Amino acid sequence: MEMKLQPQPHVLLLPFPAQGHIKPMLTLAQLLCHAGIHVTFVNTEHNHRHLTQRESLSARFPTLRFRSIFDGLPSDHPRSISPYFLDIVTSLRSTTAPLLHQLLVSLASKTNDDIGAAAGDQLPPLSCVITDGLMCFAIDAAEEVGLPVIAVRTSSACSVWCYLCLPKLIEEAELPFGDEDMDKTVSGVPGKECLLRRRDLLSICRMPVDHPVFKFFMEEHIAITRASGLILNTFEDLESSVLSHIASKFSKIYPIGPLHALLKSRVDDHDLSSSSTAMAASLHREDRSCMTWLDSQRPGSVIFVSYGSLVKLTRVQLLEFWHGLVNSGSHFLWVMRSDVLSDEGEHMRHVTPTELEMGTKERGFIVDWAPQEEVLAHDAVGGFLTHSGWNSTLEAIWAGVPMLCWPQVADQQVNSRWVGEVWKIGIDMKDMCDRTTVEKMIKALMGGEEREVFTRSVDRFSKLARASVSESGSSYHNLEKLIQDLRNL
Ligand code: UDP
Repeated sequence: MEMKLQPQPHVLLLPFPAQGHIKPMLTLAQLLCHAGIHVTFVNTEHNHRHLTQRESLSARFPTLRFRSIFDGLPSDHPRSISPYFLDIVTSLRSTTAPLLHQLLVSLASKTNDDIGAAAGDQLPPLSCVITDGLMCFAIDAAEEVGLPVIAVRTSSACSVWCYLCLPKLIEEAELPFGDEDMDKTVSGVPGKECLLRRRDLLSICRMPVDHPVFKFFMEEHIAITRASGLILNTFEDLESSVLSHIASKFSKIYPIGPLHALLKSRVDDHDLSSSSTAMAASLHREDRSCMTWLDSQRPGSVIFVSYGSLVKLTRVQLLEFWHGLVNSGSHFLWVMRSDVLSDEGEHMRHVTPTELEMGTKERGFIVDWAPQEEVLAHDAVGGFLTHSGWNSTLEAIWAGVPMLCWPQVADQQVNSRWVGEVWKIGIDMKDMCDRTTVEKMIKALMGGEEREVFTRSVDRFSKLARASVSESGSSYHNLEKLIQDLRNL
């Protein structure tokens, strides 16, 4: 009897247009393609142009196709999330949503004429949409076309749980609180009653509840529960209690992180080694000169400083950090993005005080953008001064590097609280960055009494992360479940 092969599903992935969202979703795309699934990855036209690794990725994963979609903004719009977040999301909802609907209709039809399909390669009709949880207009579009939707949140489970509790926090009059008594504990997040102070809540909780940005996040996290499942870039041993709370809101959840590690574990190293940059899916050009500098440093002696892709600093904050770093006597590698300053028209390098120049020449190295995963894995790196973005946090956990956290926006305030109080893998320095504090905290992280607690704990989580992406691990198993569910749709 002739066996009939089950056709592979075809999934559309739609990330929110920011580095910290595109990178993990593109990693997920590679994992799905590795299982033979067809993936159409949709970036905004702007990010499509900046994602230079497209061709090498498509060459390695033949079922991966890229499409672009208009974000509705004028071509000369800066598109930086800070301070243009509202412009971006408003335009996505009004202009991109109907365009996405059209794209879904065309890809779902049996005779779709996908221009990305290689000659002779039959692209099956679209069977599912996997959307970023900040792009929930995709849920409406998919429902209209009759396609199932799974959502992805690229931030921590602990922060997602806080987002999901926003209506309850308002109902119980815990929100709004303005900026009063920031150390008061918050009781409206079930499971975490004693842990969270007002200052540890999501950054939007510092806003009035009728602020358009607050409303945006609340609406998205109400809409997201209509998805038939939720994918999270975390692992069970790291966030099990919060995951069980989130699971009560969705029919299925798939914790499959750390995604970058799962990819390394599932896809043969040999396949990936030819181009590690393709995996990193970066919108910026990496400066690899810092790797040679790291090679010349003593093991565990360097603190790596990076505020991710979006956070901006005032000139005063940047100088305080710089003084603190130099005064700590630590060797440091600092990612100073060319757009890191929030004050328009000024660039620090032209106005660096002499003592900072000297200290930097002696002990520091500055780059515009680093190969962060490789940096964190380098023997010389003994600590990470971070803005507590979720990708950075997971990458540091994976590499076993303790953190000094200076959170600024979104989920970062929550993540840093977990780093300091739940996982005990670093210090939460939120809402402070004067030079004396920075110096003191760096010394504590790199060589203080508590360092041993941090390193022991982060090593333990690093091992658990490795176990979770191994063949018998929970993330590995949850990805299998996701793939099976996509096939069964
Ligand atoms: N990143 C990098 N090189 C840098 C700085 C950051 O490759 O010099 C990467 C980092 O590895 C992480 C991502 O950019 O994967 C930043 O994501 P995260 O969630 O930490 O912060 P966001 O940029 O979203 O605030």
